[in-house]
Amino acid sequence: MSPYKYSTLAVHAGQHPDPQTGAVNVPVYLSSTFELTGIGTDKGWDYSRAGNPTRDRLETALAALEGGTSGHAFASGMAAISALVAMLRAGDHVVCSHNVYAGTVRLFNQIVSHYGIDIEYVDTSNLDAVAAAIRPNTKLIHIETPSNPLMVLSDIAAISEIAHAKGVEVSVDNTFMSPVLQSPLALGADIVMHSTTKYLNGHSDGIGGALIGSKPEHKERFLLVQKAAGAILSPFECYLVLRGIKTMPLRIKQHEENGRAVAEYLAAHPKVSRLAYPGLKSHQQYELAVKQQKGFGSMLSFDIGTREAAGRFLGAMKIFLNAESLGGVESLASHSATTTHAALSDAEREAAGITQGTIRLSIGIEDKEDLIADLEQALAAV
Ligand SMILES: *Cc1c(COP(=O)(O)O)cnc(C)c1O
Repeated sequence: MSPYKYSTLAVHAGQHPDPQTGAVNVPVYLSSTFELTGIGTDKGWDYSRAGNPTRDRLETALAALEGGTSGHAFASGMAAISALVAMLRAGDHVVCSHNVYAGTVRLFNQIVSHYGIDIEYVDTSNLDAVAAAIRPNTKLIHIETPSNPLMVLSDIAAISEIAHAKGVEVSVDNTFMSPVLQSPLALGADIVMHSTTKYLNGHSDGIGGALIGSKPEHKERFLLVQKAAGAILSPFECYLVLRGIKTMPLRIKQHEENGRAVAEYLAAHPKVSRLAYPGLKSHQQYELAVKQQKGFGSMLSFDIGTREAAGRFLGAMKIFLNAESLGGVESLASHSATTTHAALSDAEREAAGITQGTIRLSIGIEDKEDLIADLEQALAAV
């Protein structure tokens, strides 16, 4: 455990000055290969797929921020999830939250299942369903909480307890909360996954992903996947995430304040139904959100009725951009059915509760009064 508090860690973990020059910023080591010091000896690096000094710094920061034993940076969030399941074998069984990121479902159904790995989707907000789904060959329970876009929570501590009693590991996609607002490893999970594209980078200028492990065997496993499968994050992208991390706690404060203000505004609007934001007392799992999260974040969704209404609303927005993704400084609005969840069949979307009127908002760090005024005029256009 680090003796430092969070904002200090964000600025300093892995980000000490360059020992050679004193440069305060982590240098971007654009080198594919490294000169060896002899036969079989080196200065810590030999080839950048296996390890790169800039990436090492980011991985140190990621491990510190999640309280893990090792961090591993990948070329995208999807590459990180691919690495998570890369060490499974034919015949293994995975339990996955039924309303995870649609890209995860696409990866599992269209690629991973072809390797003889059996993936079962379960409503992980229901602990009995989780317990009932575990089989003798279950190796992993992969959950995402809160879920996208309906903000359904899964109880990380309770699921970890159920899983560990049966010798099963738990991985948590912590992208929606960021490391600032939720610490899955402290709650008992084994592995944390992030799309660093979102809050960790925070500026919508790079794609990246990460796994953070809690045991030495995770380090061994994920280092092997980085080296053997090769979907590593480039040094420059590592630098962008390191830069983003320094201001992440500060950004998250503003994201949060704005998220709450927007949710309260929308909750009272007659054209808005099924508003999903865990920070509202009316959210079915408000108590769990208070217990397991350190805040409520800045993601929310609601139903505006029809696809036509959604189109008019998105077309009328002036500050919010009609774009997928989340976690950047700018506020985004998106039509879930045709963007983030377009990969799902109509039946899968319906089962997940995503309608043609579902709008997802990622609240940025602009002034909340401007954001609310923008929502007001766009809702008036519907
Ligand atoms: C964006 C996202 C991913 C995928 O990450 P990429 O960086 O786009 O590959 C996975 N999970 C969640 C929750 C996401 O929001």
